[in-house]
This record gives sequence, structure tokens and C-alpha cells, in this order.
Amino acid sequence: MTSQRPMLKRNRSLVDVDRDYLIHPVTSFRGHEARGATLLRSGRGMYVTDMDGRELLDAFAGLWCVNVGYGQESIAEVAAEQIRRLPYATGYFHFGSEPAVRLAQRLVELAPPSLTHVYFTLGGSDAVDSAIRYVIHYFNALGKPEKKQFIALERGYHGSSAMSSGLTALANFHRNFDVPLRWQHHIPSPYPYRSPVGSDPAAVIAQSVADLRAKVAELGADTVAAFFCEPIQGSGGVIVPPKGWLKAMRDTCAELGILFVADEVITGFGRTSPMFACEHEDVSPDLMTVAKGLTAGYAPMGAVLMSDAVYQGIADGAAPDLPIGHGYTYSGHPVSAAIGLEVLRLYTEGGILANGQHVAGRFKAGLDGLADHPLVGDVRGQGLLGAIELVTDKTSKTRFDAALKIPDRLFAEGYHNGVIFRAFGDGILGLAPALCCTEDEMDLIFARIRRTLDGILDQPDVRAALS
Ligand code: PLP
Repeated sequence: MTSQRPMLKRNRSLVDVDRDYLIHPVTSFRGHEARGATLLRSGRGMYVTDMDGRELLDAFAGLWCVNVGYGQESIAEVAAEQIRRLPYATGYFHFGSEPAVRLAQRLVELAPPSLTHVYFTLGGSDAVDSAIRYVIHYFNALGKPEKKQFIALERGYHGSSAMSSGLTALANFHRNFDVPLRWQHHIPSPYPYRSPVGSDPAAVIAQSVADLRAKVAELGADTVAAFFCEPIQGSGGVIVPPKGWLKAMRDTCAELGILFVADEVITGFGRTSPMFACEHEDVSPDLMTVAKGLTAGYAPMGAVLMSDAVYQGIADGAAPDLPIGHGYTYSGHPVSAAIGLEVLRLYTEGGILANGQHVAGRFKAGLDGLADHPLVGDVRGQGLLGAIELVTDKTSKTRFDAALKIPDRLFAEGYHNGVIFRAFGDGILGLAPALCCTEDEMDLIFARIRRTLDGILDQPDVRAALS
């Protein structure tokens, strides 16, 4: 059978060409054909400019990744310099390159003290896949092959690759994809605003610990390998657990003999103020996954950080002359690594981490200032990661009917007002501005969001839905 390539159509607008040929991530094919793409042309500081020349304040750092803002010249310079000197070096066959080695060392210096070894990936999903594979390998190497069950949180997001998508617990990523796999399990999210035990921090923490214990008991204590969690659940709606939750879960995992994996793909690199969210509670995980802020989105890269115990278990359990069969062509890519080193320098010596910590107060004030808006049921956040949850009734916390398509309206109204944010399916507005944001820019973000919420409130069917 021969395949027929359709005639390529010439002289069409970029949006039409996009519609014809490009498949977008996490997007309805038909929905995209109808709506068309919004193409961005350039970016500088906190702003991006679209193809029509409209300047927009990006309050979401691209996809919670451009933590140093757009247009950092020093990053462009190190990338160009590295491409000229050595654009590629494999990590296979004992090869390597200086930027990858130096970046691994820098990450170990900055990470929680338990984490002493680094494996580089291309992004977050394959960092989670790599963590899963190494955990499986570790327990086989230890002579505990029965430890194969993995537990994560409902509303969690850990990626969309074949294995990470089953640890993710968002319906879109499961529907028609035949995941979770039979060894992937979930326990309820620590969601203070909607927890069945109420918002009391101690009760929310106790419930999560009890849920984890119950799930481990149900699966069989000797069969569980690891528990994965985000310190703050990002794509699930920026769910901020009470202080003490992360440590309680970490300690429970240690007591139950299961590995604790912190997925800091969003929360890493200053997003919640310290370099890593684990630092808020002095938590030292067995493994940690990172991506996004590692290169601030200037090049694809992620990593798995591993404790010495896990590393030594794998090392001792494998025959010294046989390769451990896990790796990617682009693991430790020298250009991405050089960019990562420069991004880390900007966070630390460049003052961007400190700026993020300073402006976090203004961010919190902006969130709190919206709590009295008639559409707002909850505001929450930590550092420069936050959410505004919309409801029809503040007492009953009722969500808007999905038929009203509140997220689409929010996004369109925000765009009209010159601000970009994330609008989640259940009427949650997510915010993650770059750490280089000034106080004036932060105030402007919240002024534009208030105008956006007022615009939504003015729509007659929205007003009619309020009780
Ligand atoms: N883990 C978390 C916590 C994430 O938020 C994401 C992406 O948003 C991923 C993993 C997957 O990362 P990537 O999209 O780079 O594959």
C-alpha cells in the first residue's frame, strides 16, 4: 500500500499552516482546527509579543518555566559559544562534556543534602520515567523484586509519557490512553479548600498519612516501591498542602520502607522562594525530579537527583561489565547544560532568586486582594506560585457548570486585558510569574486580573449562575 501525501498548500497564513500540519500538545485536535493557534513572536523581560504585535504580560512564565524572564542575553551568549565549541557530546561509552559535569556538581551543591548523584533527561516526563526505572532497578538489585507498586496523589501531574502519565492523576491524561498501569495507584490530594476533613492543617496532614498507610496496607507492605508527590500540586490546580505535610509524608515513607520521590519540576529553582520546595520543611528525598526552571525554558532539559543509598544499591547490584540499559541520546546535552549553568548563575549571583523572594510579598498581597471579588472562593500560593479558585457561591463552594466554559472565557478576557495566565478546567486561574518580576509589574498583573474577573462577572449568564 502506498501512502498519499496531500498537496502542500502554499501562500497560506501561518495560522492556517499550523492548523494543517502541527499537532499541539494537550490540545483537542478538532477544537484547535476551529480556534486556530495564537502564535508568539518575541519576548523580553516579563512580556511576550504575539504575531499581531500585541504585548502581553506573561504571568505564567510560559509554562511555569521561564523563571528568569525572556531575552536574557548572557544565556544566548553561552548557548552560541557552546554550539561553536562543541554542540554535542554523548554520555554513552564513558564520554562526557564539561558543562554536563559542572552542572551535575552545581545541582548537588544546591539540592537537599541527601541527593548526591544526577542523571540528565530532556524534560520532566522522562525525568519521572527515569526515576521509576531506577527505582525498579534498585529493588531488583537489592533482591526485593516484589517491590513494584507505585503510589502518587489524585490531581497530581507527573508528565505524559507512557509511564509517567499513569502516575499523573488527571482525567485528560488517562482517557483513551489505557493508564494508569496496574502497578500505579493514587491516594486523595491534600486539598485544604475542599478536603472532606476541613481545612484544619493537622487534620489534612493526618488524613494524608492515614490514606498512605491504608493504601500500603491494601497493596501489601512489602510490595510498595515508592511514593511520588509534588510539594505543591501544579497542574492539578495549584493545591498548596498545609505546612508540615511534606515532612509527614516523607517520614511515613521512611517508616514504611518505601522510597520518597519529590517531583520538583514546577516547584524547583525558586518558584516557591527557596531553591527547592523541600527546603521549606528540611525534607531530604530519596529521589527528586527537576526540569523547567533548570534551564528556564531556554533549552529542553530535566534531571533525576538520587541519594547515595539508591545509587550504591544500583551500582552494587549490577555486573560491572554490563551497561545499565537506561539512557537518551541527549542526556547531559552540552548546550542545554551550558544554559543550565548560566541560568543557575542568574538565580544565585545574578540575584534573580533573591528578587523572587522579595517580590513574593507583593504576589501574596495581590492574591489576597482578590479574595473579596464576588467570583472568588479561594486564593492560595507560596512564593511565586499561586491560584485563584472561582465559585458560584462562596459558602457552598459550588463550581461553575462546565457548559459555561469559564476557563476559555477567562483566558480570552485575560488576553484582551493584556495578561496571560493558566485557566484550569474547574475554574481555577493559575499564576507563576517569572522571578525577575518587579513590584510594579506584579501590581499590573493583578490589576489586569481584577479587570478580567470584572469582565467575566459582567457576562449575563455568569451573573445568573451566582447564588
Ligand atoms: N512533573 C511535573 C510536576 C510537571 O508539572 C510536569 C510538567 O508540567 C512534568 C512532570 C512533565 O514535564 P515535561 O512536560 O517537561 O515532560
